[in-house]
Amino acid sequence: MSNAPTHETPRLAEPVAGRCLCGAVSITVTAMQAEVDICHCAMCQRWGGAFFAGVKGEGAEVTGEEAITVYRSSPWAERAFCGTCGSNLWYEFLPTKGRSFLAGLFDLPPGFGIEQQIFVDEKPDWYDILQESPMKTGPEVIAEAMAAGLSPD
Ligand SMILES: [Zn+2]
Ligand SMILES: [Zn+2]
Repeated sequence: MSNAPTHETPRLAEPVAGRCLCGAVSITVTAMQAEVDICHCAMCQRWGGAFFAGVKGEGAEVTGEEAITVYRSSPWAERAFCGTCGSNLWYEFLPTKGRSFLAGLFDLPPGFGIEQQIFVDEKPDWYDILQESPMKTGPEVIAEAMAAGLSPD
């Protein structure tokens, strides 16, 4: 098993700027992957109302830190939101410090694909997954992380 991407992910040449609903927080992502990462887990549903769709890049510049509240949602992760307007900002996977920013914060160029969809076994019945993409269940995702030597705390 390998943690490497299954294909070469296209990246955007220009940095992409995003912001929360009230504008207190701005985020600029460099070398953003032109694919969203989708999570259907129960925690993401409770956090954002439905599935989580995130984008990531090589680096990110965040302004408006004073408006940001960070919540430790599990031994694996933190979730950040704007304390003024409530916009969710990012999910941080603590073992790698990798941040996945909410796709909706950015005006993304056309042509985005889906990198993968995870925790598909926790998807509610009221919507269907119709777009083609790699899919993994929660137990598969956790087994992959463990096999890669990652662990919570
Ligand atoms: Zn805000
Ligand atoms: Zn999730």
